[in-house]
Amino acid sequence: MPLLPIRLFGDPVLRQRAAEVIAFDDDLRRLADDMMLTLHSAAGAAIAANQVGVLQRVFVWELGDDRGALVNPTVIDTSEEMQDGEEGCLSFPGLYFPTVRPLRAHLQGVDVHGQPREERGEGVRARMLLHELDHLNGILFIDHLARHDRKEAMRRIRAGELEHPVGGQDGPVV
Ligand code: ZN
Repeated sequence: MPLLPIRLFGDPVLRQRAAEVIAFDDDLRRLADDMMLTLHSAAGAAIAANQVGVLQRVFVWELGDDRGALVNPTVIDTSEEMQDGEEGCLSFPGLYFPTVRPLRAHLQGVDVHGQPREERGEGVRARMLLHELDHLNGILFIDHLARHDRKEAMRRIRAGELEHPVGGQDGPVV
């Protein structure tokens, strides 16, 4: 299983909508395995296929012992109650900003064998699920930031900090 190169902000693939998975074959399972390995190696919490340059609707996560893959996810419900907390992204190494998201999320999709599954999350798990679903739609966490934080993020990106990340981890990297 090879490690896959993680695409950084600026790569157009991160702004594209990933396509529905239609073939639940060995290639899909190999992709999910490689993404999990890549995620683990990068010490992230979750990664979407766009982030390894593949425009298919699949993401994988690893929150401690809680690990899995969700394919063709859609939102069933999100809470009106919101949460605010630091969030990071493997495609923005070293950047963490407060990001407001629903406190709870309920997604449905299928697993890598095409079997239906539902995933519910609260707190960090909800943040992870919604962040990954966004990736599959070409949406990035900086799109959710307060205006001044977004300006600061863009300033630091232009200064080259993605290639030479500074600072430690303050929140989940998803
Ligand atoms: Zn991300």
